[in-house]
Amino acid sequence: MNRVRLLVLNAALGPLDYRVPEGTRVMPGQVVIAPLGPRQVTGIAWEEEHLPSERVPDAKLRPILEILPVPPLNAALRRLIEWTADYYCAPLASVARMALSSGGALKGPATTTEYRLSGGLPERMTAQREAAMEALEGEQATIRELSGIAGVSEGVLRGLVNQGVLEPVEVDIDRPYPAADPAFAEPDLSPDQQAVADRLVKAVEAREFAPFLLDGVTGSGKTETYFEPVAAALQAGRQVLVLLPEIALTEAFLKRFEDRFGVPPVLWHSSLKSTERRRAWRAIANGPARGGAQVVVGARSALFLPYANLGLIVVDEAHEVSFKQDDGVRYNARDVAVMRAHFERIPVVLASATPAIESLQMAQSGTYERLELASRYGGAELPEIRTVDLTEYKPGHGAWLAEPLVEAMEERLERGEQVLLFLNRRGYAPLTLCRNCGYRFQCPNCSAWLVEHRFSARLACHHCGHEVPSPDTCPECGEPDCLVACGPGVERIADEVAERFPEARTVVATSDTLSSPGRAAEFVALVESGLVDVIVGTQLVTKGFHFPELTLVGVIDADLGLEGGDLRAAERTFQQIAQVAGRAGRGSKPGKVLLQTRHPKAPVIAALASGERDAFYETETEMRRDAGAPPFGRWAAIIISSEDEAEAREAARKLGDTRPNLPDMSIFGPAPAPLALLRGRYRYRLLVSAKRSVDLQGAIRRWLGGINHPNGVRVGIDIDPYSF
Ligand code: ADP
Ligand code: ZN
Repeated sequence: MNRVRLLVLNAALGPLDYRVPEGTRVMPGQVVIAPLGPRQVTGIAWEEEHLPSERVPDAKLRPILEILPVPPLNAALRRLIEWTADYYCAPLASVARMALSSGGALKGPATTTEYRLSGGLPERMTAQREAAMEALEGEQATIRELSGIAGVSEGVLRGLVNQGVLEPVEVDIDRPYPAADPAFAEPDLSPDQQAVADRLVKAVEAREFAPFLLDGVTGSGKTETYFEPVAAALQAGRQVLVLLPEIALTEAFLKRFEDRFGVPPVLWHSSLKSTERRRAWRAIANGPARGGAQVVVGARSALFLPYANLGLIVVDEAHEVSFKQDDGVRYNARDVAVMRAHFERIPVVLASATPAIESLQMAQSGTYERLELASRYGGAELPEIRTVDLTEYKPGHGAWLAEPLVEAMEERLERGEQVLLFLNRRGYAPLTLCRNCGYRFQCPNCSAWLVEHRFSARLACHHCGHEVPSPDTCPECGEPDCLVACGPGVERIADEVAERFPEARTVVATSDTLSSPGRAAEFVALVESGLVDVIVGTQLVTKGFHFPELTLVGVIDADLGLEGGDLRAAERTFQQIAQVAGRAGRGSKPGKVLLQTRHPKAPVIAALASGERDAFYETETEMRRDAGAPPFGRWAAIIISSEDEAEAREAARKLGDTRPNLPDMSIFGPAPAPLALLRGRYRYRLLVSAKRSVDLQGAIRRWLGGINHPNGVRVGIDIDPYSF
């Protein structure tokens, strides 16, 4: 009898066996619908030997119902799914779901109906209709998505459809994307760039697993350089995946891609509309040979898609923390990218001006091949970096710009050049308190202060999204006019700039103001057209942007990232400041960077000012080696949470009491997690530290698997954790 084992897309179920009806064949990787009790489940046909489970006797098997008409997930992706689930201690089903990301892509007709404004007017105009129509200007999407965009109910929009104000448009899901031309605009590479490009092109042509660390200073032209192996892959009819850490960066990238290859790439990110998502998924699975996607640019979730014929992966700004996913399946896209390349037998390029210590170590040990671009393209010099000692130059009360920075700004603004002020804090002020009774505004769901956002007149929690309108009286003592903002956020810096330089045109650039690719594009256009003098921004503006007229970068608080003192505090501070410094002087005019700090002698600040990158990395690496910290040892965090404080504490204690006692492995805690309350859940944490030789995941699985907790308790495993 013909039978098949399914990896069912439901973590609670485990593998299930089915009968394959006479005359049908099911290949591993095919997506199948099968009955389960009175319901139906979706599953992926899997090799039995890779998915151990008790073998159900033939007579008991029910037949599968349907094989979906989509290309099967190839063996490389199936092995990647297994590896990811195993390494990160996550359910196979949860990882597999990321590959099938859009259930809708699998089923349903190949056309869909979207709606757009027809130009007609409703019989009766109401304020609500008017606002909705204004919001829908230029949009085309399903009714449901339009309702989200316009902020009105689907019912209101259906009313507009009935009156002909919104008209239907039939959209063919499988319409092809325009083909990229590898020779559209070939650049003249510098000799250094050419050497790196040649090496990568050769690797693409060899069709073997080959991991590279592309280590090139800011402005060295890493993008132009890795576009050459992209062209080689296109030429060979193979697909390319470029992972970017932030969707706001995509806009600038798209433009450069289009300049080079004549057409935009295919985009993949979490805010794609459902029809775009279906179209992209199907095009990726169909591959170039069938008119599908060639180059995909995406956020980390693009990594698990079922590429038909992948030939190259690039991870740009590979050191970025946002490649680490911290909920659901906790994985690091940078590391999974290397594994995918391994299973697909293709090259992978990790590009960065400030590589992670982990990546540098891999290069040092010869596991990754290091490619270097040591100077900026076109003879631009790296900027001069100076510290401003805040203990010497104290800004006045309620001010944050010290005199040397103000003077440097004056100079640049007089010359018509642009200034970037960097502070990694959204909003106006990180804390609001009552001068009268000392009350502090705190999030009810998280152990965090509410951050004042003055532009939108709200206090907001940056962890759970809780928001209240900015109050004018203290909720505790009822006193009016007693609330004070403590500390600076970017909005407050923008206020100070406006006070000191009333003529300067200032924009605030954060995830609040650049929340969509469209708004990011407007920002780039605005700065490029010279209509902006001062940019005040968070980490969002530290990378990717290329503004030739920007000659001064001011770091408002270089010490900010060093607070808290976790393992990567110094490394991250170095990366962030080196990156933001790298925005200065990218054109023909030299750049200057001023770091405001209270600790000019701190090793990381001193290294930034002296430009001694390698010395900094060496010291950091030695410290990690001595401490047995990653990448020399292995770490994991166990997070225990519950809505009930006592329940969480008790579950954590139970885990602590049953900790295994193994050689070369230590377990610390339990202790309250750094965010002891998050989204209404109380959190405790245990830390596991082990030598590289220890089977860390196996030990953790055996330990946690033996203990039952009340239903309200969740236990999360974070392998190679980032937040400490
Ligand atoms: P990085 O990513 O290394 O910081 P970019 O790729 O942003 O550097 O390159 C910096 C600038 O130099 C960009 O405007 C880019 O278009 C330009 N550039 C780099 N290499 C070349 C080249 N070979 N020909 C023309 N322009 C180049
Ligand atoms: Zn909160």
